[in-house]
Amino acid sequence: MKYETVIGLEVHAQLKTNTKLFSTSNNEFGDEPNSNVSVVDLGLPGVLPVLNTEAVRLAIIAGINTKCKINKKSTFARKHYFYPDLPKGYQISQYDEPIASNGLLVVNVGGYEKEIRINRIHMEEDAGKLIHDLSDEYSLVDLNRAGVPLIEIVTEPDISSSEEAVEYLKKLRKILVFAGVSDCDMEKGNFRCDANISIRPIGQKELGVKTEIKNVNSFRYVQRAIEYEIIRQSNILDKGDEVVQETRLFNAGTNKTYSMRSKEDAHDYRYFPDPDLKPLIIADEELERISADLNESYEEKVSSYISLGLNNDDVEILLSESVLFNFFDKSLELLNEPKLISNWIIAELIKYKNDVKLDPNNFVELLKMVKAGSINNNSAKEVLSKIVKTNESPEKFVKDMGLTQESSEDYLISIIDEVIQANPSEYQRIKDGEEKLLAFFVGQTMKLTKGKGNPQIINKILKEKFNLS
Ligand code: ADP
Ligand code: MG
Repeated sequence: MKYETVIGLEVHAQLKTNTKLFSTSNNEFGDEPNSNVSVVDLGLPGVLPVLNTEAVRLAIIAGINTKCKINKKSTFARKHYFYPDLPKGYQISQYDEPIASNGLLVVNVGGYEKEIRINRIHMEEDAGKLIHDLSDEYSLVDLNRAGVPLIEIVTEPDISSSEEAVEYLKKLRKILVFAGVSDCDMEKGNFRCDANISIRPIGQKELGVKTEIKNVNSFRYVQRAIEYEIIRQSNILDKGDEVVQETRLFNAGTNKTYSMRSKEDAHDYRYFPDPDLKPLIIADEELERISADLNESYEEKVSSYISLGLNNDDVEILLSESVLFNFFDKSLELLNEPKLISNWIIAELIKYKNDVKLDPNNFVELLKMVKAGSINNNSAKEVLSKIVKTNESPEKFVKDMGLTQESSEDYLISIIDEVIQANPSEYQRIKDGEEKLLAFFVGQTMKLTKGKGNPQIINKILKEKFNLS
């Protein structure tokens, strides 16, 4: 390979606020189109934006958690362009004075540590959304997203491979989710990435000409888009041609990137300070108060989970979604069984994570029944699938459904005796040493108990009966 790759990433993360960045409309995904829209979001004449202080607080928290300097003064600018999802004709964004700058994120990439500097974090409002697939003749505009608060996190061109890019994105996502800054739900477009990619001959100081791949919304696609660009650009340089600076789009169907438009320069946007918004000044006391209220850091949380005996993979999964780790923490307060709780969250609860109505109290009650052997694993899974959406008491549910596990030895011995009587030849074979028939007897016994027999106790009784160890 005679070229080296240079990548800088720009991530847009949607802030987890109740209302929009400059209006009191709800910041809510999935509502009736155009139901969360105010005169400010519509850009009607004469209305004024009012900055959402909660959004500022979350942007500061993002800055602290990525080791940025929080700037005492930052300003909002108007970025002008025309598009039907942008009623004002400009987007309000921070430009030359962002809220945070000069941060650092250290990522582990297959065994080595890579330091990736963060150039800046700035706040901006999102645009609305065009819907093209409801009609052949026209497109529709939904402005629910117009004015939703975003932060944009911009790295220095420190990333050298698609693997580093993906590890950076994963780590950044987990940090933001854990800090409560954003849900970073990629399916909802809460976390979107623009990848800037260039290559240069190894040893060359100056950066090569970059292309920007817009709005890639999955880690896998970021990886593929970068890998495709590296090959495409290498082929161009190999031929002695020059890479064109432009914006490109990744197509997941072909795994290729396609030219979208030639890259605008900043002056094309006619940036100027928004005269409706005063500079944002963060008082020292305010910053101190926010810092004092901070949760532990993502790294500290990882260590605390590891010290509970969870393994790396479990920790990774739990910390990927706030519903999961919040559920884990609350359950652990009620039952000191980290491994059991984490197993059940990761294997079962995760399936319902988008509509968990279950209270950790009821979840823990269910786990206690599993632990005590009063219900078997399969029944417990079934119960969970029902109560997860209704938050019914598992005990009551188990009684009503008749799922209580049968652990009484007397009862199970009587069932086993029936099974033996019904299967004399198998009985003789296992007596003669054909040990693998044990599974047959367990199965028959489970069948007669309608699945409610406690498998451990059944096994124990059978082994005693047949003198197996
Ligand atoms: P633009 O004005 O084109 O948006 P910026 O200077 O704002 O460019 O940088 C945008 C992103 O592109 C940053 O993450 C930066 O690190 C990255 N970047 C800048 N130049 C290059 C380059 N030559 N190759 C790869 N990435 C680059
Ligand atoms: Mg840029």
